[in-house]
Amino acid sequence: MQDKIRELQRRIADEKDPLKGRLWVSDDGEGAVYLAKSAGFCFGVHRAVDMVYGKVREKDFPIYTYGPIIHNDTVVGDLRKSGVGVIDSEEDLSGISNGTVVIRSHGVPKRICDQIEERGLTLLDATCPFVKRIHEIVKKKSAEGYQIVICGNAHHPEVEGIMGWCSSPAIVITTEEEAEAIAKKDYGKPLCIVSQTTFNYKKFDKLVEIVKCLRYDEPAILNTICNATEERQTEARAIASLADAMIVIGGRNSSNTQKLVDISRKECENTFFVQTFDDLNLRLVPSRGIVGISAGASTPNNIIEEVSKQCRKTILLNRC
Ligand code: SF4
Repeated sequence: MQDKIRELQRRIADEKDPLKGRLWVSDDGEGAVYLAKSAGFCFGVHRAVDMVYGKVREKDFPIYTYGPIIHNDTVVGDLRKSGVGVIDSEEDLSGISNGTVVIRSHGVPKRICDQIEERGLTLLDATCPFVKRIHEIVKKKSAEGYQIVICGNAHHPEVEGIMGWCSSPAIVITTEEEAEAIAKKDYGKPLCIVSQTTFNYKKFDKLVEIVKCLRYDEPAILNTICNATEERQTEARAIASLADAMIVIGGRNSSNTQKLVDISRKECENTFFVQTFDDLNLRLVPSRGIVGISAGASTPNNIIEEVSKQCRKTILLNRC
């Protein structure tokens, strides 16, 4: 075990290695907790949450978010207590006549922004700039006559939002079979391929490779996976490959957290998915060895700290 922990320490010290988090090692050198540097709020989520709390501080009510501001029940519950309502659908929106509507980091289809403005409501756009960039790409490319293809989950709000900025219907693909099918079909126009920001970058490369091999024309390829996602996935994969147990913290509906769980499970069978510390049964986590902790982009810092603290108490003091 000590060799494995020394290897982890060596890798953390190596500037080129993705492992850049915090490490705590027990006195006997037999147990360690690694907390991923990339765990927790990404830039876009930080910005969106700050924008809503900023509006709350101004006491400029009524305030609504279009959908929960992030995929985290704790934050959404706290905002609800502060008087921030959640609009769940276009139908709900049509019943609102005054106030501010905050667009969350995932973004929304253009028609929702239009509706907010037509109704005379104030629009506070917290769409992450990386997602906004995809809206601009698909808007421009679809207007130029490209068939837009999005690598992602068709039911995810971010993808629904992206589709809503295309001037003709977009196609969403996830699997290699779907990539083959679109590559073989004649749409009478070139393809423009983008990705959901949280898409697995290895999978994106694979789908693009399939399309390029089978297509007679040259598709426009824009890898729009955000760096925060790539860094988080790379770090999770790296620590999971060394860890004896992995804990991934995040909301049940958070797509980026789910991807971290999938990536971690491939490398480490002993992967636990928890929303808060209350979901974690420490008795199932090995008391010796390396425990890795990662968290989705919408997981608040206090929840991550609580899990990390309790793991340290148990593992470093060998209290199981
Ligand atoms: Fe923006 Fe990336 Fe965070 Fe999504 S994961 S909100 S694209 S910074």
